[in-house]
Amino acid sequence: MEYKILDKTNIQEYLYSIENIKNYFENDDLIIDEIGDGNLNYVFIIKSIQDESKALILKQAVPYLRCVGEEYPLSRERMTFEIRALQKFSKNTSEFIPKLYDTNEEMSTVIMQFLSEHIIMRNGMINQITYPNFSEHISTYLANNLFNTSSLKLDSTSKRKLVDEFNSNTELCKLTEDFVFTFAFMENETNDTYSKDHLEFQKLISDNEFKKEVLRLKYKFMTKNDALLHGDLHTGSIMLNQRDTYVIDPEFSFVGPFSFDIGALLGNLTMSYTSHTAQKSDESYKQWILNTIEEVLEKFENKFIKLWDESNESALVTPNFIDESYLSQYKQEFMKDIISETAGFAGCKMTRRMFGIAGVADIREIEDLKIRDEAIRLTLNISKRFVKEHKNIKTKEDIINIIKEETK
Ligand code: ADP
Ligand code: MG
Repeated sequence: MEYKILDKTNIQEYLYSIENIKNYFENDDLIIDEIGDGNLNYVFIIKSIQDESKALILKQAVPYLRCVGEEYPLSRERMTFEIRALQKFSKNTSEFIPKLYDTNEEMSTVIMQFLSEHIIMRNGMINQITYPNFSEHISTYLANNLFNTSSLKLDSTSKRKLVDEFNSNTELCKLTEDFVFTFAFMENETNDTYSKDHLEFQKLISDNEFKKEVLRLKYKFMTKNDALLHGDLHTGSIMLNQRDTYVIDPEFSFVGPFSFDIGALLGNLTMSYTSHTAQKSDESYKQWILNTIEEVLEKFENKFIKLWDESNESALVTPNFIDESYLSQYKQEFMKDIISETAGFAGCKMTRRMFGIAGVADIREIEDLKIRDEAIRLTLNISKRFVKEHKNIKTKEDIINIIKEETK
């Protein structure tokens, strides 16, 4: 099928050309609405008029950045990687991925389950909602997807094939290199106007110790190929309620460092914490965030090690190669390296959200500028330490201690 941009006028015809979708809606009349809050792509809700319980989401990539317009071209092949990643993650952790009804690489579309009872986690956290199952769910999502797509599980050929399948997500990886690791830490026209004459921004861009460690982390981002990543796992890519958790929007997926997804999550949970600290929110909510950070890291580590213990042959480990006790030591050291890089990547992700092109609502939407500046100051105090000290951060306790020390 030749690519064409879908809109309200031609979606129904497109949907009814797909057997699976025709069966789902059974020729009902459809109401089609666009969801306005996507940044890069078009997202439509499709509902049956006859039966309200029938509803699906259609997401399509266009060959430019939706929120800016046609003058900012971005190839729509990003959807090819989103589709491939959704399929792999569904295979590993189907309970955390919206059910896929149709995917089409030529049309750059995915049609999936409409999560009608779930909200974007960032909005939930801004409104101080706690999610009792979140750490259990997301740690399973992370451990299973990261472990099962790594050289600790796959054989050498399968791993290299996986790298091939995702290696050409070049434009989105370059966006991360520019916007997460570079432009937000120097004078650049893409930065938020709030950076102008801001003392904290001036301090940041002249902090060469910080920048040296950023280079070290950026190099890891560019060269490590541990496992298939979501690539943009912030709290805006998670939809959830008290019962379930779903991860959406893996268009930045590529085979990169284990710690990049965990770092994105840690960074975004920490920014919610600094935001609530600056706003003097309820202590019990802040405690829930801290507990969640600790639990996510602990449960991830335990689940990852368990999967590793259960798998006795992989690209890395040949049976009978090494004594069990030494292998166990190697695994412990391996996890410490993941924690250390997690802190480093979290620090980059938090710092770039302060003055770079894309902020987070948790902080940028604080209207009182004194309180917003306090949230920025607290975030930077933590994030700069995460980056500069990451080589010495080895445990979840080290991470929690830095957050506590800088917010007391
Ligand atoms: P983009 O890549 O353009 O940022 P997203 O995949 O993040 O697009 O989707 C944009 C918005 O659409 C999300 O913030 C969410 O509100 C909504 N959305 C996306 N997928 C679903 C879904 N399966 N069910 C319900 N809402 C969804
Ligand atoms: Mg997106």
